[in-house]
Amino acid sequence: MVELSRKEFMRLAALGGAAAGLGLGSTRAAAAVARTGGAARTLIRGADVLTMNPALDELTGVDVLIDNGKIAAIGKGLSAGDAVVVEARGMILIPGMADGHRHIWQCAAAGRLVKTNVKEFAAGYQVWKMKWMPCASAEDHHLAAYYGGLQAIDSGVTALLDVAHGQQTADRALAAARGLKESGIAGWFAYQVSNRCDYGPGDTLPLAEARAQASQFTSDDHWQTVARLQKEVLGDSSGLLQLGIALSVGSKGQPLARVAEQEFGRARAMGIGIITHHANPGPTDVPPGHFGHRGLGLFDLHEAGLLGPDVHCSHGVTATDDELKLMAQTGVMLGATAVAETFPSRPLARRDPAHGRARAFGVRTGIGTDTPLSLTQDYFEHIRASFLSLALDPASEHVASGYHSPDVFDFATRGGYDAIRLGDIGGTIAVGRRADLVLLGTDRPGFPPAGTLADRVVNFAARTDVDSVWVAGRLLKSGGAMVGVDWRSLNARIAAMQARVHAAADTITFT
Ligand SMILES: [Zn+2]
Repeated sequence: MVELSRKEFMRLAALGGAAAGLGLGSTRAAAAVARTGGAARTLIRGADVLTMNPALDELTGVDVLIDNGKIAAIGKGLSAGDAVVVEARGMILIPGMADGHRHIWQCAAAGRLVKTNVKEFAAGYQVWKMKWMPCASAEDHHLAAYYGGLQAIDSGVTALLDVAHGQQTADRALAAARGLKESGIAGWFAYQVSNRCDYGPGDTLPLAEARAQASQFTSDDHWQTVARLQKEVLGDSSGLLQLGIALSVGSKGQPLARVAEQEFGRARAMGIGIITHHANPGPTDVPPGHFGHRGLGLFDLHEAGLLGPDVHCSHGVTATDDELKLMAQTGVMLGATAVAETFPSRPLARRDPAHGRARAFGVRTGIGTDTPLSLTQDYFEHIRASFLSLALDPASEHVASGYHSPDVFDFATRGGYDAIRLGDIGGTIAVGRRADLVLLGTDRPGFPPAGTLADRVVNFAARTDVDSVWVAGRLLKSGGAMVGVDWRSLNARIAAMQARVHAAADTITFT
């Protein structure tokens, strides 16, 4: 990939276009469309571009050519040729955004539990999850994942790391992966290799038993599911959605050799590209040589030789400086979720998200939504919260005080893509990058005409400003509407599913 400095770019632009590799004939263009699943050559004309590429910075009134799923040229007065032209004068083109930690399946139940009802959320979240899981079918998971992927795209999120921890059977996991893939989003379907539900509607059982089933160490069954996911749904190594795994809940406290062999070893032997886990404090009485003996267990994993650039931690709010330094040294990624973490699962026991400290130590750091059950899909709110949470945290305010708007936006774009192992692919706008792009309208009341592009976007943008979205050059949202999506019908199906699943869930009694 050729990276131009801003100065070189402006010089070439003045000469009539910083184009590279143009001039495809119509036959080749048609073949490209076929290869990319409908992605056409597209010229976005006259946009103000927030590149998030330090060499290019912000560009005013330029054209961006998408060809074969990638950004083929950026410049003034580019020739459209046979490309579809999108007039974008006065609009702001940003890189598609990344969400580094989201449980997509929960979008089907949005609103049932919310974080502003603090005690109810803290007491009810795990119980809700354990009651929903046996009552939602494979078809329900298919619909939920499809719907959740569409919602992400609609908000300008083009790649995410879905931690699929609500599918206790193979048919549910496969259906969820299919639904997410069909939505057109890029990123990772990271199946959690644990969970079991031996109960169902009408059953009464001790809460401790349900908890134990939800906190399993991995089993052969789970890896058979991983194999099927790889073979039947996510086996194409060039696909936009790739297969990852999430460590089992029960891996904490296990002998490191067992975790190494049965989780890390299996995943790596199968070529799984990302291994994520909830980096939260686990059991406190873990002996030496076991996962979780020290802190978040990162030094334990390191001692066992398991940390590497395919390892992703979510949250990590209690990470010590030494743990963050270790993550940076070993290439481990972090997905912080500012809103979710600021309202933790214990009433008003506030903890502070770690993304500011992590990035200051050199960790590949992004942000995420975590629980669409309870939190908005407007990703710009999460971006702003990621700054606010740092500014309010005594341990991070020195980091936040040196920030400018691009530093904040980086968590969702350049850094955000890097923090889900897609840093070589997207997160910035430059020639050669995948065309994961978002075009924002700027003409609504309250969208400011003044300020840098980053200032305007980071401080004022909202989901409703997202006019168009491309993933790998494929137009998925246009003119403010998702292409080919009937929201009214989908919303009705989701509402009916939610009512049915909750009616069944209400018949389960935990004692
Ligand atoms: Zn989570």
